[in-house]
Amino acid sequence: MDLGLTGRVAFVAAASKGLGKAAARALASEGMKVVVSARGEETLRATASELASATRAAGSEIEPVPCDLLDAPAIEAAIARTVARFGRLDVLVANGGGPRPGTFSALSEDDWRHAIDGTLLSTVRLIRAALPHLRASGQGRVLVITSTSTKEPIAGLLLSNVLRPGLVGLCKTLAKELGPDGITVNNVAPGSFDTDRMVTLHARIAQAQGISEEEARARTDAAIPLGRMGRPEELAATLAFLASARASYVSGQTIVVDGGRTGAY
Ligand code: NAD
Repeated sequence: MDLGLTGRVAFVAAASKGLGKAAARALASEGMKVVVSARGEETLRATASELASATRAAGSEIEPVPCDLLDAPAIEAAIARTVARFGRLDVLVANGGGPRPGTFSALSEDDWRHAIDGTLLSTVRLIRAALPHLRASGQGRVLVITSTSTKEPIAGLLLSNVLRPGLVGLCKTLAKELGPDGITVNNVAPGSFDTDRMVTLHARIAQAQGISEEEARARTDAAIPLGRMGRPEELAATLAFLASARASYVSGQTIVVDGGRTGAY
C-alpha cells in the first residue's frame, strides 16, 4: 500500500532511541524527510546517521535537532529549525521520556511538576509550535504517543495514569478544533514494548517484588495474549499508517497497540 508520504516532512520528539526512533525509521522508510530530536547530541547524531543509512534507498532525509522537552523556548526553536531545513511540516510525533514511576506516597511535589511539564506541557508546546505549519500542510497530522494507562490504571505508574488521560482529552478536543484545518489528531497507546524504558521498569518491579529481572519480564510476557512484549517497529507501523494519506478520515482516536492485553473497550 502506498502511504502517500514521500517528500513530506515529520518532526519526531524523543527520537534518539526506543519508540520515537522506531517511529522516525518507519516514516523515513516511506521516503519522508524526518527531524529526529532528543536531548543528548551525541546519541542523537548516531541515531540520525544510522537511520539515514537504513532508509536512504527510500529517498529519506534525516536531520538531528537537539531539544530538551522541558525547555519551552527550545521546543519552539526545534520546530523552527525543522521548517528552516525542509521548508514545511506535515507530521508531528509528540513523544517524551515518560513520567517517573511511583505510587502516591512515593511521589513529591517536584515529581508532579516535572511530570506535568515533561508529559503534558511538552505536548501542548510541541503542538502549539507546529500548528501554523500543520495548517499550511493541507494534510497535517498530530500523533501523540501515550500509554494503555489511557484505558485503565497501571499499578505503580500513578503519574502516567493521571497525565495520559489528559493527553487523550487534549487530542479529542483538538481533533474537533483542528478538523476544519484538515488536521487529524490521534494518540497511540502502547502496551509493553521492549525498550530501555521497559528495562528500567522491570528492574523496579524486580526490586519491589524480590524477583529477578528475567522473572519480571516473563510475567509481563505471560500477561499478554500474544505472549510477548511488542517490538518498537510494531508500534511504528501503526504510527506510519496514521500519518499517511490512507488514514485521512481517522481522527480523535486512541489506538491501543498492546498485543491484546488491555481489558477495557
Ligand atoms: P526510551 O527510554 O527507550 O526512550 C525515551 C526517549 O526520550 C529517548 O530518546 C530519550 O532521549 C528521550 N527523552 C527523555 N527525556 C527527554 C527530554 N526531557 N527531552 C527530550 N527527549 C527526552 O522510552 P520508550 O520506551 O521509547 O518510551 C517512549 C514513550 O512511550 C515514553 O513516554 C513512555 O512512557 C511511553 N510508553 C512506553 C511504553 C513501552 O512499553 N516502552 C509503554 C507505554 C508508554
